[in-house]
Amino acid sequence: MKKIIYFILIISLLFCVSCKSKHNKTLPPKEIYLTFDDGPCNNTLKILEVLEKYDIKATFFVVGTMVEKHPDILKKTYELGHSVGLHSYSHIYKKIYSTNQELQQDVLSCYNAVKKVIPDFSGAIYRFPGGSFNLTNNTKQAVLDLGFTYYDWNASTMDSEGKFTPYELYKNAVNTSLNKNKIILLAHDTKPNVTLALEDIIKHFLNGGYTFKKL
Ligand SMILES: [Zn+2]
Repeated sequence: MKKIIYFILIISLLFCVSCKSKHNKTLPPKEIYLTFDDGPCNNTLKILEVLEKYDIKATFFVVGTMVEKHPDILKKTYELGHSVGLHSYSHIYKKIYSTNQELQQDVLSCYNAVKKVIPDFSGAIYRFPGGSFNLTNNTKQAVLDLGFTYYDWNASTMDSEGKFTPYELYKNAVNTSLNKNKIILLAHDTKPNVTLALEDIIKHFLNGGYTFKKL
């Protein structure tokens, strides 16, 4: 009788171990990509400081006109090893989305503005102003045709959607990221409250076992 019980115990133990290893193998890694749009601006410097403190690299989708105003800040962002993506030259929806030709011209103007500051820039990532969610395939193809890959987001601090306190921005980031293993979080370096929320956001995802990555 004892032997049978031992046998059952060993079998169930083996079953558990194999289940666990299988489970571990299929579990996708937990990753978060912090993305900041609409800069560079003076506030970007504060964000860079926080990121440096935690040794985290992020992605900055920059606007051409802002690059021309703050070339040194873009240069610093790039030299610190963050990813630089394009986010239009003018950021004026009406103009950018009037025709595909206008859109492509705007992307290239942004690219040239960045290239002027960072001669060895070879980045080819893009974020549509407002995201690609409501755009036609034809519009999206215009950017793909230029050789760019575009990224939206699946979580947001919602910092461009109203006047949120730093704590509310933090809560928005947490709530919109629930149950996601790969998070692309939207924030804007032009919104000072995001800087104040950033440490709490970082700590939350570090505690949750997420790895911070750049696009
Ligand atoms: Zn934007």
